[in-house]
Amino acid sequence: MQYVSTRGGMTPASFSDVLIEGLAPDGGLVVPERMPHLDFDEIENLRKLTYPQLAAQILRLFATDIPRETLSELCERAYSSANFPTEGVVPLKPIGDDLTLLGLSEGPTLAFKDMAMQFLGQAIEHVLEQRGEHLNIVGATSGDTGSAAEYAFRDKPNVAVFMLSPQGRMSPFQRAQMYSLTEPTIHNIAMEGVFDDAQAHLKALATDLEFKKRHSIGAVNSINLGRVTAQSVYYFWAYLRLTDALSDDQRESFEFSVTVPSGNFGNILAGHFAQQMGVPIRRLVLAANENNVLDEFFRTGAYRPRASAETHATSSPSMDISRASNIERFIFELLGRDPEKLSAVWKQLDDTGELDLSEHLDDLHNKYGFASGTSRHDDRIATIGDVYRSTGVLLDPHTADGVKVAREHVEAGVPMLVLETAKPAKFAEIVREAAGVAPEVPAELAKLLDAPQHVVKMANDEEALRAYIAENALS
Ligand SMILES: *Cc1c(COP(=O)(O)O)cnc(C)c1O
Repeated sequence: MQYVSTRGGMTPASFSDVLIEGLAPDGGLVVPERMPHLDFDEIENLRKLTYPQLAAQILRLFATDIPRETLSELCERAYSSANFPTEGVVPLKPIGDDLTLLGLSEGPTLAFKDMAMQFLGQAIEHVLEQRGEHLNIVGATSGDTGSAAEYAFRDKPNVAVFMLSPQGRMSPFQRAQMYSLTEPTIHNIAMEGVFDDAQAHLKALATDLEFKKRHSIGAVNSINLGRVTAQSVYYFWAYLRLTDALSDDQRESFEFSVTVPSGNFGNILAGHFAQQMGVPIRRLVLAANENNVLDEFFRTGAYRPRASAETHATSSPSMDISRASNIERFIFELLGRDPEKLSAVWKQLDDTGELDLSEHLDDLHNKYGFASGTSRHDDRIATIGDVYRSTGVLLDPHTADGVKVAREHVEAGVPMLVLETAKPAKFAEIVREAAGVAPEVPAELAKLLDAPQHVVKMANDEEALRAYIAENALS
């Protein structure tokens, strides 16, 4: 399998190459040359596999340049019981009214980013070791991505992580998770300013090719295709577990729907991949918070990304995104996988700030099965409260956005999954406000709150950042 750019300006590359490179050199996003497909019997053959075995079988369709044995080992390590202590790695939890949570937050940082990042940690380290190379990952985080990346790479000798976070903008729990790490290859940098300032410095570094090359700078942000492919695995897992108790005949006509709390369109894009690969997903429902650019797109066909100044800070902060980079991969598909059309449309977006794709609305809804909805602060408070009262299950605010929107799209006889993207313990304050009880914090994590913190404070100054990286990068 080879990988190409949505904008057509990239020599086809291998999976290992795109893992390390991230962005395509022409500014586009990397996509598989064609989408692999499994028929009904091939998917049936996956039924008895454990989660890590299933991951290896799905990922080998993408990572054709990594030997199968090796890929199996990487997946066993990524999805080990040390990383994911819950039986089966991804549990299904019914919460009534035809809704079932798909538990993606059983990993070390209690958010679904671990599902992809743990695989990336294993796979990137493997490729670097093979090539005798090393990588200095520079990223910016306002919460979950930073900790997932640090936990995935903390024990990888060929990788160092430099993670910028806006000073004072993360929750005490998120800070404790990241700053308590003691590995010398993990660098937490608390920068003055807001997330967008950090993001702007990263962009400047990423386009300074000389600096990038000299210090082997890489990224593991949500446009990394390795993350999307690793995330497609749990849609297969969900289908298999939902149909375990059914007869063959029932399985052949089975369909289910999924609601995905969305920000950068990475998680739900993985669902679209799984659907294209043969998983019978009827509706892919996108749940947005107050920053509902994508809800508008899927309702009207108008895509109008907003400036970061117009992005609201909400009580489901990991979804506070107004320019979802991964959407380019789906629009590429929508335009018939034609890089010229995609480039023309993206030029129009750059020139005018918006796109009108309403002529494709029928395809959006009927060919690809997308639907969408918005959940606001009051909705998530109410949802956390009534799910707790009726089932005893506590939801985090992002998953609550998912449940709120899922309820608006349930169809009789079609099971509806809601992806649980974080544990309530990560957002204890709002959960307590909504449900009247505090979520349980695992003892090991509670200890982190008191651990010494390792963080470098830095002015909002790109030269200081460059100097720090130059001095501390692996070389
Ligand atoms: C990252 C994140 C999301 C959004 O996922 P995307 O892949 O960016 O759409 C939702 N909820 C939580 C808790 C997250 O960490």
